[in-house]
Parts: sequence; C-alpha cells; structure tokens
Amino acid sequence: MTEAYCGSFDGIHSPSAHLTSRYQDVASDTIPHDYEDPLLIADLRKPANLRVQYLAAIHRLGTGALALSLWVIPFLKCAVYVVGRYSQRRTVQEGAGGKRVPIISFRTQQLPILHCLAQIAVMDAFADWATDQHSNNKALHPGIKHGLAVILKAVFLQNGQASLANLIERSGAQGMYPHNQMAAFESLTRATGIAEGEVLVLSIRLATEVLLGRYSIPEATQPGCFLAQHEKGIISDLRETNKMISNHRNDEYNRHVLPHLRPMVIAIGQRMAYEAALNAGVDKDLLALYEAGAIKSDSVWYSEHLGIGRADQSQKECEALDAVLPRLDEHLESLGIEPYCTAPMLSSDRWKGIVDAVPTLTGNGEATFPGAENMDSKL
Ligand SMILES: Cc1cc2nc3c(=O)[nH]c(=O)nc-3n(C[C@H](O)[C@H](O)[C@H](O)COP(=O)(O)OP(=O)(O)OC[C@H]3O[C@@H](n4cnc5c(N)ncnc54)[C@H](O)[C@@H]3O)c2cc1C
Repeated sequence: MTEAYCGSFDGIHSPSAHLTSRYQDVASDTIPHDYEDPLLIADLRKPANLRVQYLAAIHRLGTGALALSLWVIPFLKCAVYVVGRYSQRRTVQEGAGGKRVPIISFRTQQLPILHCLAQIAVMDAFADWATDQHSNNKALHPGIKHGLAVILKAVFLQNGQASLANLIERSGAQGMYPHNQMAAFESLTRATGIAEGEVLVLSIRLATEVLLGRYSIPEATQPGCFLAQHEKGIISDLRETNKMISNHRNDEYNRHVLPHLRPMVIAIGQRMAYEAALNAGVDKDLLALYEAGAIKSDSVWYSEHLGIGRADQSQKECEALDAVLPRLDEHLESLGIEPYCTAPMLSSDRWKGIVDAVPTLTGNGEATFPGAENMDSKL
C-alpha cells in the first residue's frame, strides 16, 4: 500500500478515507500522538494466556457496541416522523368515484408507524438504563457489562432493521430516494451490526457463556410478564439441549444450538427493555404495543408455551394499535425530531423544491392519451 491509500501514524498504516469512504467518521483511522491507552504501549512479550490477553485488548468493544447502537434511536425517530407525516398527507381514492382518503387510514400503513413509535419509547428507556449501568454500576462483573452492550445492540438491530425496512416499503417510490434519508439510515444500521463486533458473533459468545454458567445476566424483576416467561423458556430449552451436548465447540452445538443464540439474546433484551420502560413510566399504550410487537416476533413460542393463539395475539395487537392511533400527532411531535428531518417527502412544498430544482427539458412534441389531463404526480 502506498501513502496515497493509507492513513499513517508513526509508521503504522491503516485504511484511509479512500477505502472507508463515507463511513470513515465511524472507522476512525487516526489516533492522537498523546493518546496514552495502555493497549498502545503494552508489553510486546507473548502473554501467558493469549485468550485472556486478547479479550483484555478488545475490552473497549463493549463500550463501542453500546455507544454506536444508540444512533438507531434518532434514525427511527426521523424515519417514523417522515413516513408518519407523509402517510397523513398522501391520499388515494376509495374505489371508483369515491372520496380521497389519507393512506394513514389503512391498518397496513399504521402498523409499521405505530410499532416504531412504541419501539422508540421503549428503546429510549432501555438506553438510559443500560448506559447508566454501564457507566455507574461499579459492582457489575465485566462480562455482564459487556453482555449488556451486546444485548442492547441485538435488540436495537432487530428493531432498527425491521422497522426501517417496513417504513421504507410503506413509502412506495419515495422510500428509495437517497434524499429521503431512510436508505442511508438502513445502511448505517446494517453497519452498526458489524462495527464494534459483529452482532451474531457477539451474541454467540454471550449466550454460550450464559448457558455454560460463566456468569448470569440481571434477572427479571417482573417474572410473571409474558416477555420474562418467554426469556426463561428459551434459555431453559437451550440449557436442556446443551446438557446433551458434551462440548460447545462440536458439530452438534453448531447445528442445534448456534442458530438459536441470537434469538436468545434478543429474548433477554426484549424483557430488559420492557422492564426499563415500565420503570421509567413509559406511556402504557405504547408499552402494551411494544409487548404485542415482541410477542409477534416469536409468535409460535407464545402459542405453544403460553397458549396465546394467533387470534388472541392479533386481538391484543389490534387493541394496542387502536389505543395509540388517536394520539398519533402527539406521539410524532413529542419525538422532537422535525428540525433534523431533511427528507423532501415530508411536505409537498419541500417535494416541489426538489422537482423545481431538476433541469427542465423542453421540446415541441405532443403526447396525448385518455386521462392525460389528470396527470397529477403520484409522489
Ligand atoms: C462501519 C464499520 C466500521 C468499522 N470500524 C473498525 C475499526 O475502527 N477497527 C477495526 O478493527 N475494525 C473495524 N470494523 C471491522 C469490523 O470489526 C469487522 O467487519 C467485523 O468484526 C466483522 O468481521 P468481518 O467483516 O471480517 O466479517 P466476517 O468475520 O468474515 O463475518 C462474515 C459472516 O461470518 C459470520 N461469522 C464470523 N465468525 C463467526 C463465528 N465464529 N461463528 C459464526 N459465524 C461467524 C458472521 O456472523 C458474518 O455473517 C468496522 C466495520 C464497519 C462496518
């Protein structure tokens, strides 16, 4: 590699902005000369225990995983605000000759918007709790401290990826335009799953250590709630499977346990997030909707183990949606994100600004076809 392609400090080379492109502010490739991290001035002799040394060397990953995951909250706030407002102003005709109705009147449009609002409320509370534990709870075992970051990351990734994909899809063609911000949020959320430790690999390590009993994560404070029962059931099933497998590095563990470890971490996180929101006094309708969404994410388990069938789950979700919907405006406004939303799809004036800014090509051709007089933009 030449200097043109590398950042360098004191003879150490790392990929420069050319390689890391727009994510270079995340993948920081410069380290100040006066940075006295013991890692950089560590003893170069081979350590007695390579694994312990390696884990010590990367211990800051937990902090990075926690910190980086937090930006999923403003991504979701911005996306839901933009799609929520768009869905209120975009109208379609109800049948031939019918009146025009905003698309927010359709339950299919309400679903991703209202679920996202519920997730944001709960994630905000979970973030406050987890960052406080991480920074201020000196009694926390280092493994658990790292574990909390992994748990938060897994839950934020799941909510972020699912909600952004659904919000983008429900925005039609508008969701594709880079100007409308959401495609960038989706890409950055994906990056969050990889940077500071790939989320699946982090989950595998944490869940395996919990199953092996190396340490325990903070237990449920509301053991009777649905999400706590789910967490307990998932972990105890995996513990049973694990008992029959002699070694967590063998092929059986690979085939039978590995695929269930990320869902296990998410189950723990959903319960923790719910409790954090309950303790923080999050709006009860939003909390009920979050719970309904979490149940939906592992619908079959609740049906098999708690006897809550599809119809009951659907009814619970429907009631929670009905309770949140009348306060949609209030919930959107309370996000406080509008000043940060640059998406032109937010209003017809902004969209007109984009249309007016593109070059106009003129000619003298004439095209006419039935309905040509009613060619209002669908966008
Ligand atoms: C925005 C961004 C910023 C970054 N910044 C930095 C930085 O500042 N410093 C730095 O050192 N690195 C940085 N990285 C690199 C990052 O840490 C790695 O990309 C990440 O750890 C994943 O490694 P990989 O890309 O080699 O993927 P791989 O390890 O090749 O993973 C590919 C797939 O294999 C799976 N896999 C890998 N190992 C296992 C396993 N043991 N068991 C099961 N499945 C497995 C993964 O789940 C994944 O699906 C950054 C990455 C991104 C995206």
